[in-house]
Amino acid sequence: MVFSMPSDVLNRFLKYVTIHTTSQEDVKTIPSTKRQFDLAEILVQEFKELGIVDITLTDKCYVIATIPSNLVEEEAKKVPVICFLAHLDTSPEEVGANVKPQLVKNYQGGNINLPGSTDLVISPEETPVLLKFVGSDIVTSDGTTLLGGDDKAGIAAIMASLAILRSNPEIKHGTLKIVFTPDEEVGRGVDGLDVASLSANYGYTIDGDEMGVLESETFNAAGGNIHITGFNCHPGYAKGKMINAIRILADIIQNFPINESPERTEAKEGYYHPYETYGSVNEVKLKFILRDFDYEELQAKIRRVEAFTDDIQQKYPESKIKLSIKESYKNMKYKIDEVPEIMEYAEEAIIRSGIPVIKKAIRGGTDGARLSYQGLPTPNIFSGALNFHSKKEFVPVIALEKSVETVINLIQIYVEKSLE
Ligand SMILES: [Zn+2]
Repeated sequence: MVFSMPSDVLNRFLKYVTIHTTSQEDVKTIPSTKRQFDLAEILVQEFKELGIVDITLTDKCYVIATIPSNLVEEEAKKVPVICFLAHLDTSPEEVGANVKPQLVKNYQGGNINLPGSTDLVISPEETPVLLKFVGSDIVTSDGTTLLGGDDKAGIAAIMASLAILRSNPEIKHGTLKIVFTPDEEVGRGVDGLDVASLSANYGYTIDGDEMGVLESETFNAAGGNIHITGFNCHPGYAKGKMINAIRILADIIQNFPINESPERTEAKEGYYHPYETYGSVNEVKLKFILRDFDYEELQAKIRRVEAFTDDIQQKYPESKIKLSIKESYKNMKYKIDEVPEIMEYAEEAIIRSGIPVIKKAIRGGTDGARLSYQGLPTPNIFSGALNFHSKKEFVPVIALEKSVETVINLIQIYVEKSLE
C-alpha cells in the first residue's frame, strides 16, 4: 500500500463528535431533530474542500455525494459503483450535547478514568476487548455524555478516505457514492432515501463495532400484539360474571419460553420478547417481538404464538383474544449472499489492513438490512466504536485508522478484480 498514512481521521472525528446530533423517537418528520443539519452542512463544506462538486443535501437531511471514477472511461464502466454510508445522528438513549472528547495517549491497561465523572470508569473487567488496544491511543467522552463514535467514527473514516484519494491520485477507483443519513438510531435511517436514484451496485455501512468486524447478517424479525377483552363488574358480586383480562394475560405470558428470551440468549440464538403491556380487568394489550437468524425458525416461532393463543382462547371462551403478527424485516444475508464478492472483497480489504476478520451477526436492525431489500446489498464494516449508546463509549485510534485503510483497500480491490 503506497498511500500516505496516518490519515486525518482522528482530527475529523474529534471535530464531528462535538456537534450535537441526537435523534428523537416518535417524531413523524425526517429528520427527527433539526440539529442533524448542523453536521450535514459541515460535511457539505468539507466535501467542497475535497474538490467534490456533485453534492446534494436534501430537505430530509441526507447528504449524498458522487465521486467520479479516475479511470479511463472504458475501464470505469467495468467497475461497480460502490456506496459508503454512515449515519449523522447519535442515540437518544444517552446525552449527546456538549460532548468533550478525552484522548488517552498510549493506553497501558487498567481502568480509564473519565474526567467529568467520579463514579464511571471504563474497565477491562467489564469490557475485555479494551486489552486488545494496549499501546493505542483511545478516545472517550468525559463521562457525562456518550461519545458519538456511533457513528461519527464511520463518517470520519469515510471523509478521511476521500482525503487520501484526493492527495494520492495514483490510487485508482470506480465511481463512489457517499451517503450520510439521519435518524438511523430511531430506526428510520432510510425512510427518506430514494435508493434507486443512487444507481449504486453495492453498499457498505461503516457503523460501529470492534476493529476487524464484518457483518452481513441480521435477524429475521416479526412483531405483534395480543388484545384480550375481559368483563368488569363489582368484585363483591362478580362470581360467574367477571372475566379478568389480567389473569388471561398471565396465562399467555407463561407461554413465551423464558429460555428463549433476550435476557437468556446471545450470538446466533433467536428469542421471544413480550415487552410492553397495559390494561385492566376489562381489557389488556400486550406487545411482543420475535427474532431469529433462520427464516424457517422465525416462522416456527410465529406458529407457536398462534397455537398457544388459540389454546388459551379455548380455555377462556367467554373472553375475546385477538392476535396479530407482522413480519418487520428479513435477514439481509439472503440478499448479500446472492453476490458473494461483496463479502469476499470486504474480507480481503480487512486482511490487507493487517488485522483479522471478525464475522458477526447483528442482533438488531440496521439500515443495511432495508437497503439490501431495496436493491442495494449492504453489509457493515467496523468503525471501531465500542460500548456505544453509553457514557462508557470509546474508540481506539488504531481502529479508526484501520477502518480508513480498509475502505481504501476495498476501493482498490474492486478496481483490481473488475479489470483483471
Ligand atoms: Zn450506528
